[in-house]
Amino acid sequence: MRENAVVARSHFTLSLAAVRHNARTLIGALGGAELWAVVKADGYGHGAADVARAALAEGATALCVATAGEAAALRPDFPHARVIVLGPSGPDDVRAAREIGLEIVVSDGPVPDGVPVHLKLDTGMGRWGLSEVPAPGRDVVGLMSHFASADSDPAFTRLQTGRFLEATAPYSHLTRHLANSAGALRYPEARLDAARCGIALYGISPFGGDPGDDGLRPALRWESEIALVKTLRPGESTGYGRRFVAGAPTCIGIVPVGYADGFRRAMSGTEVLVAGRRATVVGTVSMDALAVALPDGGSVGDPVTLVGDGVLIEQHACVSGTIGYEIACGLVTRPPRAQREVVGA
Ligand SMILES: *Cc1c(COP(=O)(O)O)cnc(C)c1O
Repeated sequence: MRENAVVARSHFTLSLAAVRHNARTLIGALGGAELWAVVKADGYGHGAADVARAALAEGATALCVATAGEAAALRPDFPHARVIVLGPSGPDDVRAAREIGLEIVVSDGPVPDGVPVHLKLDTGMGRWGLSEVPAPGRDVVGLMSHFASADSDPAFTRLQTGRFLEATAPYSHLTRHLANSAGALRYPEARLDAARCGIALYGISPFGGDPGDDGLRPALRWESEIALVKTLRPGESTGYGRRFVAGAPTCIGIVPVGYADGFRRAMSGTEVLVAGRRATVVGTVSMDALAVALPDGGSVGDPVTLVGDGVLIEQHACVSGTIGYEIACGLVTRPPRAQREVVGA
């Protein structure tokens, strides 16, 4: 690490070539259905505008976000793109949608005028969604639903697909969209007119396995370096709670990345690369640092690959009992989705 100035403790690299490859792979798999690029949560932590630009250039025909705020942040960069707000919209969101030309999703209550609307049907997700399709008014452009378990439960996914097809059959003139990444990749009957794909676009497997199995390439690399090397004597430990105690003289390296950077505390035990070789994260991950075992020794400045070169987000997710989505969304800062207020001065 360089001294003084502002020292980056780690470095993210987004490969637009990988995003473009994934967009092409999805478009190929979709067999004629449109690809809508889901870039909510700042593009799953990858950077919404960069991913959106690459996906649109490759042939995606719309962008999907969770909130009108996320859409407003993208609008200046993409003045002409179709932008669909997937989350529920209140009156302020509807006003913003009219002003900056967004499409919204309606899952209950009256359908507002003067803004293109997608009616969302609940076919089994058990969250937002209408229980039946009302006669679509003039502003309704799409009918949609969302899968609960397309990554893991074929029978339920087919049940949801059947319900959706039946409920929307009279309205085949509207754009019908149902599939997420897992649905788009594995259920041809769910591809319909468009698929809303997020995770696969980033080259992360919706199934938690190797993204290469579906022809996807991870788009993000996350790198740092060894900031300190030390040898623990037998009985010495590293980190909070003394959860790693050396049984024999053990060389460890300290990496200046921790859970405040998105390297979750539960990721202790996962593997990263140090100077190209696999190394296990030992002890408790701290807020700003983690330790790796270096049985063959190491040096300050050795490159550490936290994600990339075969170190998969899916593997970190598996070790920490979560899904790749959650790891990715936690990695980098994103436009605020909640308001912050300071009180009690
Ligand atoms: C997030 C989201 C998607 C994208 O899901 P992936 O599994 O990331 O492809 C699709 N549709 C809706 C309604 C979503 O909220």
